Amino acid sequence: MSEPRPDRYAVVGNPVHHSLSPRIHTLFAEQTGQHLVYEARQGTPGQFAEEVNAWFAEGLKGLNVTVPFKEEAFALARVLSDRARHAGAVNTLWRDGDHRIHGDNTDGVGFCRDLDRLGFDVRNRQVLILGAGGATRGLLQPLLEGAPEALIIANRTVARAEGLVDAFRDIAPATRLSACGLDALPQGPFDLVVNATATGLGDDALALPAHLVHADSLAYDLVYGAGAKRFLDWAAGVGCVRGSDGLGMLVEQAAEAFSIWRGVHPETDPILRQLRHEIAPE
Ligand code: NAP
Repeated sequence: MSEPRPDRYAVVGNPVHHSLSPRIHTLFAEQTGQHLVYEARQGTPGQFAEEVNAWFAEGLKGLNVTVPFKEEAFALARVLSDRARHAGAVNTLWRDGDHRIHGDNTDGVGFCRDLDRLGFDVRNRQVLILGAGGATRGLLQPLLEGAPEALIIANRTVARAEGLVDAFRDIAPATRLSACGLDALPQGPFDLVVNATATGLGDDALALPAHLVHADSLAYDLVYGAGAKRFLDWAAGVGCVRGSDGLGMLVEQAAEAFSIWRGVHPETDPILRQLRHEIAPE
């Protein structure tokens, strides 16, 4: 008797060829004994809903969504999780038995689980997030639920940071939540400084003052690998000994999506070790 066909999953983005998601989900499937295939699909700007509806109609079981389609995925989903609704962005889609598309956002929980792995508890801490884009939106609810003492969002375009403060004020009653421009950063120091800007591999470096961190702060860049180097080098150069890129977050947000789809949560530490080994420069 022939083996049943594997369930199909994918990540959609544009560009998407660089995505590590197919590798991560393949490792999860091997580890948990799940019979599935996972591939990268390049989405066409302006045709997101049509393409995704067609893929689900062809039998796709679930879809991860990356730049620039997370807002369109939010608009497409008929049923939203609480964290996706707050984030206004969706990175995980699937269909139920009535063909309704569900949307969730696993970025924030992935980030917080990586903080746990790093031994960092946000409770009563001072947190600075640089950037107010889609990634920051995804982080805010789980991060605020950890009850930091203060959380400041600093963004090049101040109005965007202020908009996030307004949108999340209802779930931050015990946290001092505020916004500022990148050119008007407060004195600090902060216990956690997160680089959630898209400056990693671009030409523009962030001009950050040394007083933002202390020796025991954690500097965290959402980007992984070479894209995180400039920010982490800055932090180390001003005496901050703890730094991390975003590979752990990438693995954790993927594990949460896998668990939603398959009902089994992969063990992430060995997968993260394996990926570190695979992406290490020769
Ligand atoms: P986005 O929505 O496009 O937002 C980009 C942010 O970067 C905005 O705050 C923007 O400021 C800022 N920015 C861009 N260029 C800048 C510059 N030259 N100087 C200062 N600020 C600048 O992007 P996103 O979805 O939030 O993603 C941000 C980063 O997080 C990306 O690199 C992405 O790959 C990474 N990410 C990682 C994970 C993970 O699992 N590890 C998950 C999600 C995202 P303005 O508002 O002023 O334009």
